Amino acid sequence: MPADPGAPEGVDFEPSRWPPRSRLVGLVPIGIGTPGAECLTSYVSRLAWTYNLAPAQLVTRVIAPTLGAADPRLAERWVRHLDAILRRQPTLNSHTPWTAMWVEALEALMLRAGLSGLTLLRWREVLPYKGLLRSVRAWCPACLAGWAASGVPAHEPLLWQFSTVETCPEHAVPLEVTCPNVACGRSAPVLMSRSRPGECPRCRTRLDGAGRPDAPGAEELDWQRFVAREIGTVIAASGQGTEGPDGLGTAGAVHAAIGRTGLTLTAFAARIGVAPSTVSLWKDSRRQPSLPQLLRIARASAVGLIPLLEGDLAAIAALPPLEPGHRPFIPRSREVHPRHDWGAIQRCLEAALAAEPPVSLAAAVRSAGVAEEYARRRDPALCHALARRYADWLAAGRRRREASSEAAVRSAIAALRAERRRPSRYRVQQRLPAGVSLRRPALFRLWQAEVGGAGTTE
Ligand SMILES: [Zn+2]
Ligand SMILES: [Zn+2]
Repeated sequence: MPADPGAPEGVDFEPSRWPPRSRLVGLVPIGIGTPGAECLTSYVSRLAWTYNLAPAQLVTRVIAPTLGAADPRLAERWVRHLDAILRRQPTLNSHTPWTAMWVEALEALMLRAGLSGLTLLRWREVLPYKGLLRSVRAWCPACLAGWAASGVPAHEPLLWQFSTVETCPEHAVPLEVTCPNVACGRSAPVLMSRSRPGECPRCRTRLDGAGRPDAPGAEELDWQRFVAREIGTVIAASGQGTEGPDGLGTAGAVHAAIGRTGLTLTAFAARIGVAPSTVSLWKDSRRQPSLPQLLRIARASAVGLIPLLEGDLAAIAALPPLEPGHRPFIPRSREVHPRHDWGAIQRCLEAALAAEPPVSLAAAVRSAGVAEEYARRRDPALCHALARRYADWLAAGRRRREASSEAAVRSAIAALRAERRRPSRYRVQQRLPAGVSLRRPALFRLWQAEVGGAGTTE
């Protein structure tokens, strides 16, 4: 055990050797192999703060160079565009190629195997991205408050990231996605440069609390508990390694599940709220059901998600037969059968194109109630214009902030000179407004250029 009881086991705090060569050893992921396992981004941000680094620093200094082992350009891209990448990578906790690279990099750095249990890598062949994880961070305020009271470190279970999980199964309160501080009120990507579990990464407001009292009705709550329980089994099994089912058995399992209900294909399709043609596609192995669809199949047939995903026909055959009249509540599907009125959606997106301040494409399609992919397919030019306008606005804001930071540095130097004091780095920094730091390379270079030569004399 380390001498410092607060330090993670085995951490090398020797500053001269850190970074980039030190290995990160010790921080134990919470709940790995259980339904409550934290997600990869929660672990990364906790790990960063353990070393007194912001996640951005951990990523750029330690993780990104490892990611680039195969291709140095990749690492460079992560370093230069971190926040932008993270905004566009809401699926880092699922099973994208990036997920695999991050897990591999962290396992190598931490000398710890099994970190894929913080992601859905095991299920990459059987869980389509559609309807899988949210694009923003979600949390249960009551869980966070409970952990704070009992000394459990704030963390974010992978369960909270599932789009289908809307209610905390333990506290029966809705999961939150926007900051409780009304002045902020924004949602955030799963990882940002300064994310910390339990806090808003933008305004640092604590996210714990009692939770909104508007619990869903009894039927809906029962469905939500079922969803959380079934997804919990998937999360727990994620800890068994990255080698998961290949998806070939799902069709047979769906067939067996329908057989258990004694319904015809058409009646089963109606029961779970999808088109009969869709059920045919699953049964013929021509399409993999999405997670929201699998949950409906599981509910209607009382077959667990795991046997469905693994195509475990023996396990399905061993289940007790369904009770006659088995008809549990299945809420109306929100994702299947989208009857899109494209004209209305287009008007909504066109309105977004005129919005002040500009909104992101993701926000625009969300408020229009369609998937980004769908909107891009229907009107690539409009989507491009939305994305372009938002990016330009962000860039202009960045330039404005940079210009005002530079002006602040120049005026601090001028003020010190007028007082006949040397504009040392320390003195200049003291006169800069909060949030403007000479540690930023561009400002440091500006200071150097301004004070170089005559400026450094008294
Ligand atoms: Zn909770
Ligand atoms: Zn906030």
